[in-house]
Amino acid sequence: AGDKRYPWTDELEHNLQQKFKLKSFRSNQLDAINAILNGDDVFVLMPTGGGKSLCYQLPATVNQGKDSTTIVVSPLISLMQDQVEHLRALHINAAMISSKDSSEARRDSFRMFRAGHLDLIYLSPEMLSKSEQCKSTIKKLYEEGQLARIIIDEAHCVSSWGHDFRPDYKLLSFFKRQYPDIPMMALTATASVKVRTDIINNLGLKNALMFKQSFNRPNLIYMVRPKNKDSMFEMITEISTKFRSKTGIVYCNSKKQCEDTSRLLVSNGLSCAFYHAGMENEDRSEVQMKWQSSEIKIVCATVAFGMGIDKPDVRFVYHHTMPRSLEGYYQECGRGGRDGKTSFCTMYYQYADFKSLESQIKRDKSLTNKVLKQRHLEKLHDVLNYCSNTIECRRKLVLQYFNENFNVALCKKTCDNCKASNEVENRDVSEDAKVLLSIVEKIGYEDVTANYIIDVYRGSQQQKIVQSGHALLEEHGKGSKYLKEDVQRMIQLLLDKGFLKEKTGTNSFGFANTYVKFGKRLSSKLIMTFSISKSISAKP
Ligand code: ADP
Repeated sequence: AGDKRYPWTDELEHNLQQKFKLKSFRSNQLDAINAILNGDDVFVLMPTGGGKSLCYQLPATVNQGKDSTTIVVSPLISLMQDQVEHLRALHINAAMISSKDSSEARRDSFRMFRAGHLDLIYLSPEMLSKSEQCKSTIKKLYEEGQLARIIIDEAHCVSSWGHDFRPDYKLLSFFKRQYPDIPMMALTATASVKVRTDIINNLGLKNALMFKQSFNRPNLIYMVRPKNKDSMFEMITEISTKFRSKTGIVYCNSKKQCEDTSRLLVSNGLSCAFYHAGMENEDRSEVQMKWQSSEIKIVCATVAFGMGIDKPDVRFVYHHTMPRSLEGYYQECGRGGRDGKTSFCTMYYQYADFKSLESQIKRDKSLTNKVLKQRHLEKLHDVLNYCSNTIECRRKLVLQYFNENFNVALCKKTCDNCKASNEVENRDVSEDAKVLLSIVEKIGYEDVTANYIIDVYRGSQQQKIVQSGHALLEEHGKGSKYLKEDVQRMIQLLLDKGFLKEKTGTNSFGFANTYVKFGKRLSSKLIMTFSISKSISAKP
């Protein structure tokens, strides 16, 4: 399709080279551009750094001799500013209007917008859907045939399933109702089917042509490590040796953790600053600028640090605490290795962090919507499953979340699990799980932890097990063929599917302190993945 010539092809190629100073297209860019210029609705799914902006900036300059304006909706003022500056440096007529502009600046921008001379106008979602002046200007351009198309950047913001839901994006649904014949392009790096469906439905895209490419980032190395009291030390040592003088990000879970971690890194002689939403805007911009220019090498940041960052040489991304969603995790790791060179993404995981994030979400008063709260909890569970999976290819797990099937052979040992072994098989563990459930049914109560159940199942002769008589249970030792971590995974699976329940109201500081009780009888098959090379694992 890319070779086909259209009435705009000459101008397009000319502008790519003369205006944007680029030699050729990346995959899917030309097809998406031709589709939108052809008047179709278009959905572009590309990983961060894939080159989404060109898909709408370039067609905006292809006017075939007429005045025509492309509207771009973007969630962040800083993102819009960056893009407008970049375009102006290329001598392209672009402007932005946000509620934060001075009235003077706003008047100027509206004047140019209204005159139809702009190739691109960047608008915040609330500006587009709430400002009367904006609406009347759009109407005027539309009536004069000068409204080329509308672009919804970071379109996942429209979905409450996305990691960055913005209520103002919901209001954008008016656009297609009012201007059904104006082509719309939605772009995002978030590919889960739920988010995708929400975008199409909420924005009202019609027969949208979807351009989607693999989200695999082959140059990112994925690792999950157990988190314990030595983790911080391990990280600092690694940064000081393996990543000496290299640039990176350490994602933290709270403002305090950002500050504490940053201080610790600085006291260990590392070039580091912190970044979080509690800081003044100027302070944040300063940190970002210094990091961008490599004056500071490391930023300890909350997820507030990220959108719009485009530093090519980020060599490491640590997550000191598990993130709240896999989309978020993918995005945050995605800031590494934009230059195509190897970058290391390491997450420290402990079950206690899951419990504390879970209770944060449960207690979060700003999450008044029950359905929304449930979604947040489900997403956190997805991260838990990712972290506690010590067997399967991490790439496969991440990409599966985006509904992409990944051939694990292509990982080539670039994730911790594949490095350990990439031969896995699925086994039916239903009969064994029933035995485990029966132990819980018999002895699962207040002071019996998941770890205790595991020990009984695997036949431990610890004093407390013998003294309590649990060594005499017929189920005692029935799971001796399993590794402890396998039984932990089995419990996780049973918890996830509701066959086991976690006791609430207990004080959980880790898997060792998780109290489980019987949930319901196993009615379906329970399939678990095992590593073939870890030969102690049970054979069916
Ligand atoms: P995204 O919005 O998908 O995260 P960007 O649009 O910011 O990505 O593009 C990422 C980088 O790739 C930018 O530096 C951009 O200039 C560059 N880029 C995009 N398309 C091309 C291309 N066809 N050739 C070379 N570089 C490109």
